[in-house]
Amino acid sequence: MKYIDTHAHLNLSAFSEDIDEVISRCVEKEVAVINIGTKETTSARAVELAAENKDMYAIIGLHPIQTAPAFHDEEELGEGSTAFLSKGEKFNTDFYREISKKGKVVGVGECGFDYYHTTPDSYSIQEEAFIAQIQFANEIGVPLMIHTRGPKPNEASPTGRSVYADVYDVLKQYSKVPFNVHFYAGTYEEAKAFFDIGGTVSFTGVITFASVYEDLVRKIPLELMHCETDCPYVAPVPYRGKRCEPWMVQEVYKKIAAIRNEDEEMVREKLIENAKKFYKLDE
Ligand SMILES: [Zn+2]
Repeated sequence: MKYIDTHAHLNLSAFSEDIDEVISRCVEKEVAVINIGTKETTSARAVELAAENKDMYAIIGLHPIQTAPAFHDEEELGEGSTAFLSKGEKFNTDFYREISKKGKVVGVGECGFDYYHTTPDSYSIQEEAFIAQIQFANEIGVPLMIHTRGPKPNEASPTGRSVYADVYDVLKQYSKVPFNVHFYAGTYEEAKAFFDIGGTVSFTGVITFASVYEDLVRKIPLELMHCETDCPYVAPVPYRGKRCEPWMVQEVYKKIAAIRNEDEEMVREKLIENAKKFYKLDE
């Protein structure tokens, strides 16, 4: 593999029409992919994709927005679909334990807290699902993929604290495995706190067009960083406005090298090594 997208969603409906073509583009560009589950059906699909394709892996779990019954489930439906409410899943450990036995499951998640798409009263069910997934990751001995999203501007979080502080406390109390805070948008100090308890962070295509991340990308040690697309969302420059695909992750690698003023090839090799080691891809 030449690149790896450590957080993709080829398991979602945005790719159901042309998944074979998307996968061939990844194979052609030598881009390995870790698909992340958001609930039972999409986790099972991620495992299926990993079984069918070389250089493809799965992380399985329940996204915090899928725990809340009121969430409008756009990502599963795509554009133009009629309103639909997520039924609000509970994390069923038996289900996930069963599918984890099918192989190439390299992590649990994405789990954590989302204060943007949910109402404050959902905090306790999000927390319950988060803790259950940490315990499951501890049991099967794989890293956690952490989702964090703060409230809308002018809204308060249910705890009155930053989503990073809330996620940190739960991880510190329960987690015995390494974890990655995906789509990282916190401060350097918050990142540092995560590093001290076994965390890493990952960056998406957003860093190719939002200069606000440059300081973070420069300060954070390369060995504590991963690259991702979070496709089908946030395509990097020069593909903005298109549906994002995993091979576009190479633009994120290049941007990290450019921001840090380091050799592109050295950065690429180091980031590949990080992912292989962290997710134990060679075992
Ligand atoms: Zn995601």
